Amino acid sequence: MSSARLDVAHYFVDPGQEEQEVDRLRAARQAVRAELDALQPELPQDAPAELSAFIDVHNMLLDDPQIGRETAGWIRRRRYNAEWALTAQLEVIGRSFDEMDDSYLRERKADVEQVVERLLRALRGTGGLARGMSSDEDLVLVAHDISPADMMQFKQGVFRGFVTDVGGKTSHTAIVARSLDIPAVVGAREASRLIRQDDWVIIDGDGGLLIVDPSPIILEDYRVRKQESSLARERLKRLKNTPARTLDGQMVELLANIELPDDCDSALQSGAAGVGLFRTEFLFMNRAHDLPGEEEQFEAYRHVLQSMQGRPVTIRTIDIGADKPLDTEADHRDGDFTHLNPALGLRAIRYSLSDPAMFRVQLRALLRAASFGPLRILIPMLAHVGEIRQTFALLDTARAELTSSGQSYGPVEVGAMIEVPAAVLMLPLFLKSFDFVSVGTNDLVQYTLAIDRADESVAALYDPLHPAVLQLLGQTITQSHAAESWKGRAVHVSVCGEMAGDPSLTRLLLGLGLRSFSMHPAQILSVKQEVLRADCARLAPLAKAVLAEFEPEGQQRALAALTA
Ligand code: PEP
Ligand code: MG
Repeated sequence: MSSARLDVAHYFVDPGQEEQEVDRLRAARQAVRAELDALQPELPQDAPAELSAFIDVHNMLLDDPQIGRETAGWIRRRRYNAEWALTAQLEVIGRSFDEMDDSYLRERKADVEQVVERLLRALRGTGGLARGMSSDEDLVLVAHDISPADMMQFKQGVFRGFVTDVGGKTSHTAIVARSLDIPAVVGAREASRLIRQDDWVIIDGDGGLLIVDPSPIILEDYRVRKQESSLARERLKRLKNTPARTLDGQMVELLANIELPDDCDSALQSGAAGVGLFRTEFLFMNRAHDLPGEEEQFEAYRHVLQSMQGRPVTIRTIDIGADKPLDTEADHRDGDFTHLNPALGLRAIRYSLSDPAMFRVQLRALLRAASFGPLRILIPMLAHVGEIRQTFALLDTARAELTSSGQSYGPVEVGAMIEVPAAVLMLPLFLKSFDFVSVGTNDLVQYTLAIDRADESVAALYDPLHPAVLQLLGQTITQSHAAESWKGRAVHVSVCGEMAGDPSLTRLLLGLGLRSFSMHPAQILSVKQEVLRADCARLAPLAKAVLAEFEPEGQQRALAALTA
């Protein structure tokens, strides 16, 4: 278990490189000492005596074996990088301070924290060693919060599980953890305070349970469960090449949600029929001031299209904002409380339209990539006719720019995400304007119920089965199919929110008429198993009965009939 401040890097140094990392720590201590020594003579004559004493205390702490020797111990024993070792040791020291009776001494904890901060600053830019990502131990990261951008950095696989105090099940942090196929529990409130360095924990991601210091019986129980679930996964692999056809012969499209181009490998391994959602904002994260330009984006999109070997690929334009700020923005907004409701703020298409030059770069890159495979461009969080018109106008401009610079581009279908109730209420406009629609249920639930999806204090109210949500979803599917009567063709409709990857909801969605589901690759085969066992003709009236229920008792009865 590791509890950590997440603004520092966490990685294992390569075996044999421990002493070099200890030297890095030593150099940082020397740098901080020089910094403190330089401060002392600069103090004004009339500076309060405490100030000088405070510098002396910091100097003494720097020499304290608790900071020097013990931190080096983490590096030597565990191969933690210096920053990680320091934060781990800070936690140990912090605890011993918390347990002190003397309030004066207890308050000295702040001095230790400040010295560690200084050391972390000194380490910054001193170039960590090459990252060795292997460890014999199963490490779990317990933190107050992990941003989606930080979670992306863990893709290389240092940690075997994650726990955060804050966050909801469909927060982007949880979504990325799910895409890593690693157990995670979010919204565990006090976990980072209560769990200690080196505690044993069981993370039951399915049950949303965290067990600290389990008894041998519980440990054994979970070992067995883990084995059973690996066996079940192995068995599911046999379905990889089985067509996703229901008992009554309905073909169902099972697509993959991806965050980075390399995720195409897992999409293909899971037998995905294509990519239903590429969340391109992840290309823009962890990039500070160096955002990807047109060439880099073009290469990323082309890579996805080529990797998917002719299968359809849906690429969503960036959905920056809310719980996915750009690094540049996070810096800028630190301590700035003007964005009190970021989920309702400058996000997704609103963000793109606020910076049309940046948006056109993405559109040009997409249009160019379209020469390499069947591409659908998906626009997030539309609610206003003005946004639809501006988007199409910018697409025209992007095409014109490519033509005038002699660059070739391919045909694209353009689709809208249905994520805001307003979009469902004016669906005819969306169906008229777009080639396809994709329901983002994560946000549709959030905006319909006015529940922040990233806020654990209201997580219990975040309910994908809320009758209002099901009404909106049902209407979207039905009206998209019915467009055939006035548009001359049905409008392709899929669901790409987390509901699509939940096998317990597959029958309901099939019954509502859904035939296209997009989800994390790890979930595709479980959903396929449900599809293979389903009979849409039987499910349709049962799903309709669910829509007619507005109270929990009736709804539960109707849902039970679907799975009977
Ligand atoms: C959604 O809102 O359901 C969705 C798929 O988009 P995101 O989770 O990235 O907001
Ligand atoms: Mg969304």
